[in-house]
Amino acid sequence: MLQRQSALAIWGMVAALTLAACAAATWLNRRDLTEATASTASRVQRLVNGAETSLNRTLIETDLLLSDLGSLVAPAGSIDPKAAGQALGAAAKRHLTVRDLVVMDANGAVLAAARPNTARLGTPLPPDFVRATLTQAVPQMLVSAPLMSTSSSELVLYLVKPVRLPGASVVLAAAELPLSLVAGILLPSTQDLGLTATLEREDGQLLVAVPAQGAKLGQRLALPLPAEALDGTLLETPGRLDGMPAVLAARPSLYRSLRVTAGISRDAALADWREERFATWAATAAFILLFVAAGAATHWQLRSMARARHELATSKGILDRALASMADGFLLCDAQDRVVIWNSRYEELFPWLTPVIAVGVPFRTLAIAASSALHGKAGAGIDQTWVEWRIEQHRGGNATFEIDLADGQVVHVLERRTPDGGIVSVLRDITKAERELARAKNAAEASNQAKSQFLAAMSHEIRTPLNGVLGMNTLLLGTRLTEEQRSYARTIRSSGKALLALIDDILDLSRIEASRMELVLEDFDPRRMVQEVATSVATRAHEKGLSLETRFCPDLPRSLRGDEGRLRQVVFNLMGNAVKFTEQGGVGIDVGCKPIGAGDTAGVELTITVTDTGIGIAADVVPTLFESFRQADSGITRKFGGSGLGLAISQALVALMGGRIELQSTLGRGSTFTVRLQLPLGKAMPPAVDTQFDVPSDFAGGLRVLVAEDNEVNQLIISTMLSQMGHSCVIAHNGQEAVDMAASGTYDLVLMDIQMPELDGVSATRRIRALGTAAADVPIIALTANAMVEDRQTYLDAGMNDHLAKPIEVKKLALILARIDQQQVPAL
Ligand code: ADP
Repeated sequence: MLQRQSALAIWGMVAALTLAACAAATWLNRRDLTEATASTASRVQRLVNGAETSLNRTLIETDLLLSDLGSLVAPAGSIDPKAAGQALGAAAKRHLTVRDLVVMDANGAVLAAARPNTARLGTPLPPDFVRATLTQAVPQMLVSAPLMSTSSSELVLYLVKPVRLPGASVVLAAAELPLSLVAGILLPSTQDLGLTATLEREDGQLLVAVPAQGAKLGQRLALPLPAEALDGTLLETPGRLDGMPAVLAARPSLYRSLRVTAGISRDAALADWREERFATWAATAAFILLFVAAGAATHWQLRSMARARHELATSKGILDRALASMADGFLLCDAQDRVVIWNSRYEELFPWLTPVIAVGVPFRTLAIAASSALHGKAGAGIDQTWVEWRIEQHRGGNATFEIDLADGQVVHVLERRTPDGGIVSVLRDITKAERELARAKNAAEASNQAKSQFLAAMSHEIRTPLNGVLGMNTLLLGTRLTEEQRSYARTIRSSGKALLALIDDILDLSRIEASRMELVLEDFDPRRMVQEVATSVATRAHEKGLSLETRFCPDLPRSLRGDEGRLRQVVFNLMGNAVKFTEQGGVGIDVGCKPIGAGDTAGVELTITVTDTGIGIAADVVPTLFESFRQADSGITRKFGGSGLGLAISQALVALMGGRIELQSTLGRGSTFTVRLQLPLGKAMPPAVDTQFDVPSDFAGGLRVLVAEDNEVNQLIISTMLSQMGHSCVIAHNGQEAVDMAASGTYDLVLMDIQMPELDGVSATRRIRALGTAAADVPIIALTANAMVEDRQTYLDAGMNDHLAKPIEVKKLALILARIDQQQVPAL
């Protein structure tokens, strides 16, 4: 639209200029024409006046000369031709325009002549003319038609006048004037082309013409001279000689019947004007061309500017839309650190910049506004240090930092330099992201917590009935049974134990995954630990006809510090697998050691190598073997049983101890698992406990045991076990009962369940320990299905002496009772 208007304006201007130029040219031409016409007019006037004056003077002089001729040729009344001729010749010589002077009689015969030829040949004057001259009423000088001079063969005019001689006779005096001389009188200079002059009679007969007109001389000119011409009025009329348009003026001479004309042909008169007109129009055309060219150039430029503007607007529109749809704030400054462009999100993040931000505003202004918004709340004004720091960051062009806004919002700022030295800033509100992260973390932690709680609860819930099953099974096996019944009961026991082991594995794994597996560091005897494991798998190995060898490095320290229980678990798992996956040959365990460190940091590098001659493991499954639920060959494993958790747990436990497990295996040949870890030397000698868990032979029972247990199955199991061992037992059905009964001080030992109604085991223990009497020192053993390590620490902290996991094994119970009897209960 705008473009169309501009184009219209341009071409309108061009048209106006063109019109103006044409008008100016026209005006100039008109003026020139007027001037040319005026100058022509005055020239023609001058010419005709000059011609008239000269002609009149000549005619009058000639008239006077002719009047005097009578007395000149006949001083004595008669004419002596010779003397007269001489006198005439002298007179003619005095008059430049007169060529010949002749005196004739009434018949036109020459009486005397200035030129001898004329005297001899006569004049060419026609008799009519001679007669007309003589018969005038008032004698006047007449002018002949152009005639061919007899003496000079030149066209001449004769001016003839009757003259009375002294002797009273009348003669004719004639002067011969050559046309060329008369022409010179009429028009002194004939160099100007286009000028004409004529001498005519009234009737239009042409006497003299400039330029010379041989054929027309003596003829009547076709065009009559208008009557009004004679008063000197200028006429635009056809030229007297050539009929072409001309400017003309005429004058009558003093001698009636003669008139003079002078004219300039229109062509000649306007030649200069025409040239000027051509020049003017050429210049005008050049100007018009110039205007058109300038208009076209401007139009073109306008169009390309419009196109460029359009392209600019289009690309700016794209940029603006892209910036507007950005979720992040955006700011671009130029190399002089002045604002170039920013998006609305930027202002949303920093609303205080809205009043100050504009294109070209120095970044310093933004920094100052930000400072007073961020730090100036308490009227402290701007923080100059911060402003300088911010500007320096910005100029550095490589900043990544975060800005804390007042309302807890956090904005992450990323600034980079552009190739032309500007700085681009991207600002992201990370408050939301951080909140999301925190929420996700909380959710993850909560779900992990829930998982752990679920596992703990499940462990308890499964272990309690399992405890019942296994406990009852133990009691059952102690009764009189047929062989068939006994074999069923044994199967129940082994299945129950397998289930228990699986639950323990899953618990361990969940702890490892939740990073909640904690090691309990104690001094222990490595040899005894390994031997105990070997002993526990020995029966199964012998049943399969496998040899079982244990070898110990001679320098193996008696005491090392570490988590014996977890290391035992690892060794048991490796030994168990070795026996499980071997059908022929044997299983060996080799404990090596290398001393490291000295003094307080002295320890050993322990290597426990479990070797078997079993089925081996294919090389391609080795890399994934230590992952949870991985089994080398599901077919084989189905045959042997197992969950695929053992190695994963063992690996994680050893890693937790700072060591590693290595594996070398050949399919069909056997496998070697090596545990490498460094353990510090232990300080105290661990108590020597019989590796067979055997109850000392001199231990005969007779303890009074308080059993705090709410579950009736468990009450039955424990009381039966205790009475079989020869101890007496009293049941407390909840924690409060237990506290009340323990206060009597009549018990040697309390077996304390943890989860009970009214008062739980931990609280009951604290109350007993707080009794303030001797009864407060009674040994208390936790009885629980809660096998979580962290719980164990809680029990110990509450003042319990030891911990016995359900399902209760007769042997472990017997061992603990024996230790109590022998006052071996560790004072915790
Ligand atoms: P599980 O024995 O309960 O299946 P493990 O994690 O202890 O789980 O073992 C994973 C798998 O590794 C086993 O299923 C078995 O395929 C393979 N494996 C472990 N030890 C041996 C071994 N000594 N000989 C052959 N294969 C073994």
